[in-house]
Amino acid sequence: MNELNTDIVIVGGGIAGLWMLNSLSQQGYDVILLEADKLGSGQSVRSQGIIHGGMKYALNGVLSQASDAIKDMPARWRKCLAGEGDIDLSGVTQLSAAHYLWSQRSLGAKITSFFAKKSMSGRVDNVDKADYPTVFSHSGFKGNLYKLNEIVLDIPTVLKKLAAPYQSRILQIDTSKCEWQQQGQQINALYDPQQDLRINAQRFIFAAGQGNAAILESLNITQPQMQSRPLHMLAVTHNTPLPIYAHCIGASSKPLVTITHHINQNGSYTWYLGGDIAESGVERGTQQQIDTGKALIKDLLPWVTLENPSWQAIRIDRAEPKQSSLSRPDCAFMHCADNHFVCWPTKLALAPDLSDKVIDALKSQNVIAQFTADKQLLDNLQHSSTSMLAWEAAK
Ligand SMILES: Cc1cc2nc3c(=O)[nH]c(=O)nc-3n(C[C@H](O)[C@H](O)[C@H](O)COP(=O)(O)OP(=O)(O)OC[C@H]3O[C@@H](n4cnc5c(N)ncnc54)[C@H](O)[C@@H]3O)c2cc1C
Repeated sequence: MNELNTDIVIVGGGIAGLWMLNSLSQQGYDVILLEADKLGSGQSVRSQGIIHGGMKYALNGVLSQASDAIKDMPARWRKCLAGEGDIDLSGVTQLSAAHYLWSQRSLGAKITSFFAKKSMSGRVDNVDKADYPTVFSHSGFKGNLYKLNEIVLDIPTVLKKLAAPYQSRILQIDTSKCEWQQQGQQINALYDPQQDLRINAQRFIFAAGQGNAAILESLNITQPQMQSRPLHMLAVTHNTPLPIYAHCIGASSKPLVTITHHINQNGSYTWYLGGDIAESGVERGTQQQIDTGKALIKDLLPWVTLENPSWQAIRIDRAEPKQSSLSRPDCAFMHCADNHFVCWPTKLALAPDLSDKVIDALKSQNVIAQFTADKQLLDNLQHSSTSMLAWEAAK
């Protein structure tokens, strides 16, 4: 039998697992990450790549705990992108240096004065007409436009950059096809019968997104529980080079639609639509959802014509710790018991925050680096590569 001895096993190679692989390795731990499929193939490559600073959660004119917990994230990611942060993300593709908020008509006095408040300074700015992005520089646009201190990233390039230094430590293993060796809730090892491989570790971290529920069930662990929030996203692929990175706000505190613009490998472009249309669209079938998306774009941006548009509807669930009445969790989530951790970042932007929480917990448990996994054996095992963008992978 092949045997690997390591300090920490991370299950799941989305943004959460890959960020932890980097930060825990930097702390001196020997770390192995297990990914069932391609890296990021769950929620991460289906996300819109917005590094939120919390403004989306303050659209009702109140700075909630959610908007407070996340406010430091854009600056932290920017440092990483500049190669000056705790993780080196230099070379990652930044799709936009800012995200915008737009309204169809003039915004009410309440929200306008809220944005003008001192506490909002640096987080949201008015935009002069001369500086409007091209998509809004049209006489047909009559609403307000604000610039948010949020960046938008090309997520496959983020995942590739995070994976690159540790490629030999990222193993293509689906734990649902393996056997856990445990005593009560103490996990000793994972055995993969296909490769006759046993992996022993001091700690096991479950960062498998939607997969966490099945992992906990197979271990007979009942807490924490997971909730899934289904979404029905839309992607329209076309040939018009017209970037848009914006939430459109209507009467409610939820954006009617959030649109991000992506560049595909074949040179075409995709507008990816989330926000309320993706939440309310869960009940709609594919064609109905596509028709709703077409009508919404026509209504909100009537002056825009996309050349050669091709629409796709994409279903994906957000995986999160269970909340009362399916509300959104406020910050990155980590639960530790015995020698395992269960994690959901809840937002891609919060992956660094999640890593900090795990490092603090390992330190408080006095977990010290003890093992070095057999390098030759690691090199000989099968490794995972990075997933493409969801709409490209689906073609
Ligand atoms: C449509 C959508 C848009 C979003 N937009 C944004 C945004 O703009 N900004 C933002 O901050 N957040 C956004 N989010 C939230 C964000 O994408 C997620 O919080 C984040 O990507 C979760 O990362 P993760 O690593 O926990 O999970 P995932 O990315 O889902 O990764 C989990 C990985 O675990 C693997 N896995 C599962 N089970 C097993 C197993 N048994 N063994 C081995 N591997 C396993 C899966 O294959 C997968 O690769 C969005 C989410 C969705 C769904």
